[in-house]
Amino acid sequence: MKKSPVRSKTVKEKPVSVVTGAAGFLGSHLSDYLLAKGHKVVGIDNLVTGSVDNIAHLAGNPDFKFIQQDVTEFLFLEGPVNYVWHFASPASPIDYLELPIQTLKVGSLGTHKALGLARNKNARFLIASTSEIYGDPLVHPQREDYWGNVSTIGPRGCYDEAKRFSEAMTMAYHREHALETRIVRIFNTYGPRMRLNDGRVVPAFVSQALENKPVTVFGDGSQTRSFCYCSDLIEGIYRLMMCDSPLPVNIGNPRELSMLEFAKVIIAAVGSKSKIVFKPLPQDDPKLRQPDITRARAMLKWEPKVELAEGMATTIAYFKTKVGQGSSPRSKLK
Ligand code: UDP
Repeated sequence: MKKSPVRSKTVKEKPVSVVTGAAGFLGSHLSDYLLAKGHKVVGIDNLVTGSVDNIAHLAGNPDFKFIQQDVTEFLFLEGPVNYVWHFASPASPIDYLELPIQTLKVGSLGTHKALGLARNKNARFLIASTSEIYGDPLVHPQREDYWGNVSTIGPRGCYDEAKRFSEAMTMAYHREHALETRIVRIFNTYGPRMRLNDGRVVPAFVSQALENKPVTVFGDGSQTRSFCYCSDLIEGIYRLMMCDSPLPVNIGNPRELSMLEFAKVIIAAVGSKSKIVFKPLPQDDPKLRQPDITRARAMLKWEPKVELAEGMATTIAYFKTKVGQGSSPRSKLK
């Protein structure tokens, strides 16, 4: 048989990843991770809650391209795409309370556009879902087969239902179009690049402690959360994308703390003189949250490695460089 001519040397093309929400806290860490793994990354963000500061260090990197666009609009990209990571969304309770329509749009229309892009390019798709799909859970810790307890009409409904819709849409593309899809349910995560004024408990407590201001515990502080350091989370998400199952997977750190304990941990870690003050509990604030990561352990051979003290030290060092600079402005898009 006649052999086809062999080219002198085949150069292996780098995989191409599209990251929506690339200028956000997690999107920017994911972009860094993918670039380090040898991917080319196209980052898309409308900067409504993300910040160019989070990706400024990538300027001039030939493997990184940034497009400022709202992902609810048609996504056109030239050339091949191998992976689509859909991370765009306001993600902190005060952001999605202020931007409820954008939150619903990016979770629904934005997910549809991102899935359409993946289908068009025959790329694998991963949706950044959330522990919020479990709502105020009646099962503890939360396993992936728990369907959740969400108020559709409460203040958190815009985020919770947008993410529930995005999971359903992802499964519809998987079933209808045989698209390779992945669903990660992200539990509370912390680390550098969280926005100082995003209202979430980590930036709130750390900035208050750094300025020796009262640390504001909502309710009686008995509600619990479980905090995962960002590098652990990104590692778990990468493994999920590279595995071969469309099943949703919880990624988070099972170490659970009450918010009152957490306030004390942060005050001690900062070495602050802050006192604790109690403020009203926001409506529908989940009472308990802790991931059951049995599936991630078995399927991905993943579990978190960074201890709270270690992750907090890095996070506090980051916030020290931000406190006192004033909060970064956020443009409000319609
Ligand atoms: N929280 C608090 N003080 C603050 C901010 C938040 O006690 O200044 C509490 C909030 O009520 C919730 C927990 O911390 O029980 C985590 O809130 P966050 O906004 O970080 O995210 P959530 O896990 O509720 O989505």
